[in-house]
Amino acid sequence: MSDQQFDVVVIGSGPGGYVHAIRCAQLGLKTACVEKRATLGGTCLNVGCIPSKALLQSSEKFVEAAHLDEHGIGVGAPTLDLATMMKRKDGVVSKFTRGVEGLFKKNKVTWVKGAGRITAGDTVEVTGADGAVSTLKTRFITIATGSEPSSLPFLEIDEKTIVSSTGAIALEKVPGRLAVIGGGVIGLELGTVWHRLGSKVTVVEFLDNILAGMDVGTAKDMAKIVKKQGMEVLTGTKVTGAAKTAGGVSLTWEPVAGGEAQTQEFDVVLVSVGRRAYIDGLGLDAVGVTVERGKVVIDDHFKTNVNGIYAIGDVVKGPMLAHKAEDEGMALAEIYAGQAGHVNYDVIPGVVYTWPEVASVGKTEEQLKEAGIAYKVGKFPFLANSRAGAVGETDGSVKILADATTDRVLGCHIIGPNAGENIHEIVAIMEFGGSAEDVARTCHAHPTLAEAIKEAALAVDARAIHI
Ligand code: FAD
Ligand code: NAD
Repeated sequence: MSDQQFDVVVIGSGPGGYVHAIRCAQLGLKTACVEKRATLGGTCLNVGCIPSKALLQSSEKFVEAAHLDEHGIGVGAPTLDLATMMKRKDGVVSKFTRGVEGLFKKNKVTWVKGAGRITAGDTVEVTGADGAVSTLKTRFITIATGSEPSSLPFLEIDEKTIVSSTGAIALEKVPGRLAVIGGGVIGLELGTVWHRLGSKVTVVEFLDNILAGMDVGTAKDMAKIVKKQGMEVLTGTKVTGAAKTAGGVSLTWEPVAGGEAQTQEFDVVLVSVGRRAYIDGLGLDAVGVTVERGKVVIDDHFKTNVNGIYAIGDVVKGPMLAHKAEDEGMALAEIYAGQAGHVNYDVIPGVVYTWPEVASVGKTEEQLKEAGIAYKVGKFPFLANSRAGAVGETDGSVKILADATTDRVLGCHIIGPNAGENIHEIVAIMEFGGSAEDVARTCHAHPTLAEAIKEAALAVDARAIHI
């Protein structure tokens, strides 16, 4: 393929890139998507959201099976066949990556296989796995090249004993002792997977709380739950050294505030200290695209400083989330087609898929205090929710933050069963600028977990019924 002319060339087929490419094609734009990985779907489908959730599901079933006796069901102690669990995960991944391929065919998006490099505002050069180079001419270039795991200078990732999330979703045996450096989303989700399967997990977090950036009260409540489940969590602690040993890795850490250093040996170390934008080999320097602190700089309409070149997803500012990347992809396609594409960054939910799940949307208490906004808090525990009691999942609570003057919902933070599904009631309310009163007056089916949201909304005005 050489010197083909397109309307849009998208570089990267993650949730940002592939959704964008499909929407561009739906809007009548001739679209190509350049992807260098052997399969479509990017980080999310190949090594991120989907495989991690498949393993979270399997490991949750393993734990559930061990506790069926309390329901009067005797099945004996469950045994683990990790190879089968991994095979199932791989099957789920390939079903979805092939699915994207099918969607490309259906929508007539051309998948150009290879690594893309921008050589001008209207030109992308693609080098295939065999070294062959083709040139794509286009009206618009969309950079959607995503992100890659960050690492620490003294911990070289080999994806066997010192792993990033990519290695941690493909371990061949359950590590006896697993260290997780970084108590963020990946640390908690993948730490949970291996803890459930039998590892002794130690989470080492630099900051004073796990789940940095989250509402602090919610993060503290979650830390208690995680510790109760049996994971060791060391906050305010920094890893200062590491050495490979015959059996694994010996790690040294010390309190950030100063104090005695400790050394412990682990079979596997997961480095989950964040991700950084991926722009290697894109040629941004040569065409003059501005990059600040590793991220491609865009304006309010996703445009870089170079005419014709735009960017979306993990490679630009904002939370590194698949649905944020997707929504940006939709909005930018609509902008290309002359429509008014828009993303409401104030209402982007975030979910941690541990059990119980943690789900948040909107402002945290800390953000409201910093902005000087007077707010009211309504909190309701799942312990007092009848469905949670019947299911036997009473850890956690719903917290709604509402404007003290207008009652408008400003944020919601849920720890609880199915929090990741239930948060969307508040996402929708916030999109419509609704109030806590609106939620409180909405009829909720009984007995449901969602009733805890109604009760939290009632609690904003100190009138919850069941506490
Ligand atoms: P990516 O998905 O990173 O895709 C970028 C693609 O571009 C890649 O396929 C790459 O090969 C390709 N590429 C890069 N450079 C070039 C080039 N020069 N030429 C051709 N191709 C190129 N988010 C959630 O919202 N929910 C979750 O549950 C969740 N779980 C996660 C679990 C893990 C373990 C990880 C690591 C991440 C998770 N995320 C989750 C984050 C989510 O995966 C990312 O936010 C999302 O994938 C970003 O999408 P993107 O399209 O910007 O980029
Ligand atoms: P993160 O930013 O969520 O957490 C990284 C943690 O590592 C932070 O708490 C940070 O304080 C800590 N840290 C940094 N340096 C450290 C050090 N030297 N020692 C100890 N702790 C250190 O990043 P992540 O968990 O790696 O995830 C990366 C991205 O992927 C996130 O932006 C997240 O949004 C996305 N992701 C999302 C989901 C989800 O939505 N369910 C799941 C996985 C990943």
